[in-house]
Amino acid sequence: MSLPEPPVVHVNSPYVVPFDGSFSVEDAATGPTAPLSKKELKKELCRLQDQLSDLQRVLYAHDHHSVLLVFQAMDAAGKDGTVRAVMSGVNPAGCQVHSFKKPSSEDLDHDFLWRTAKRLPERGRIGIFNRSYYEEVLVVRVHPEYLGYQRLPYNDPDHIWEERLHSIREHEAHLARNGTLILKFWLNVSHAEQKARFLSRLDEPEKNWKFAVGDVQERQHWPKYMQAYEHALNATSRPWAPWLAIPADNKPYMRVKVAQAIVSALESLDMHYPEVSPAEASRFAEMRALLDSE
Ligand code: ATP
Ligand code: MG
Repeated sequence: MSLPEPPVVHVNSPYVVPFDGSFSVEDAATGPTAPLSKKELKKELCRLQDQLSDLQRVLYAHDHHSVLLVFQAMDAAGKDGTVRAVMSGVNPAGCQVHSFKKPSSEDLDHDFLWRTAKRLPERGRIGIFNRSYYEEVLVVRVHPEYLGYQRLPYNDPDHIWEERLHSIREHEAHLARNGTLILKFWLNVSHAEQKARFLSRLDEPEKNWKFAVGDVQERQHWPKYMQAYEHALNATSRPWAPWLAIPADNKPYMRVKVAQAIVSALESLDMHYPEVSPAEASRFAEMRALLDSE
């Protein structure tokens, strides 16, 4: 029996990665595709932050959906700043950010979806993954020697990436069926802009702390990373868990495009504040009378 597809995410953005496997990194924009001034972008971001704050309140009150936002990018693409910009204004109680770095020994003792599964958002909440289980088909694919730490008893090098991508698709379809709205952002910074950002981390003393030798070493594997991204995005961009390839060379533009996508997807959900039942309403009258009699 074939099952119905999971509920679709309605996202209004020109940067949605097509669902038919035709996405090409080479053709994807890294810079703005619409001319907007810095001032206009700032105003638009403020407007979107207000909208997001209102949407988050009704998400929380309605308490049926959860929202998972996944952020992946090459170093210095601006993940942290984007998460900060997009979420500022949202009630911190309704939103949680998790950063996934190199796995711990406890993480490595489990299947690769375990550590992120523990951090999935509850109903009514927004959960942000700054890096995610996608690292397992990105950094690990670029460095297959990392698989050694995972002590997999079955490790078929011809199929492991397809198997992992299959697991991810199934995992996300399962989450979507159970009420999690999933949006995944690849912040697409160009090779040249990454270099400029690394150089400014070296040149400007107040940015020195951000500089990491490892980041420049990873940059040497750029073509392999791009291949891994292209493969992963094509294999896992689906109507119920779309990827968006957001141009990342201009930070204000990138932040607005991310916020617009999130707002449009949340607006499409059928959410409302819970209504008071007649029985509860009659209790209200009773309580009012009790308070008035004090
Ligand atoms: P920032 O540099 O802004 O603090 P970051 O996300 O780059 O943020 P780092 O500590 O610099 O954090 O890097 C984390 C590293 O952990 C990345 O190189 C990432 O590829 C790696 N990593 C994440 N998940 C895995 C994984 N499952 N297996 C191996 N490496 C991983
Ligand atoms: Mg880093």
